[in-house]
Amino acid sequence: MPKVESDKEFCEQATRLVTDYLSGDLDRQTAEIFEAHLKQCPDCVSFLETYKGAIRAGKSLDFADLPVSMETRLREFFKERIKLGRTKK
Ligand SMILES: [Zn+2]
Repeated sequence: MPKVESDKEFCEQATRLVTDYLSGDLDRQTAEIFEAHLKQCPDCVSFLETYKGAIRAGKSLDFADLPVSMETRLREFFKERIKLGRTKK
């Protein structure tokens, strides 16, 4: 796991981290960094909630098992959230 340089960079990695985080595959140190980031990043919390909803609907924890369209949608959703956060200032 590469070192997290900045929040923005972290957000861009979060789509992958969320998968491992929810399935319990994230190593403890990374999970702690992830949770610390969640406390200061509503965008990532929102994405996590959306992803959890997607899992409930699609019953899979793994992006690989999701339809490509859903993975793309989740990624696009997250990119938009980041963009909105940036332009709001
Ligand atoms: Zn974030």
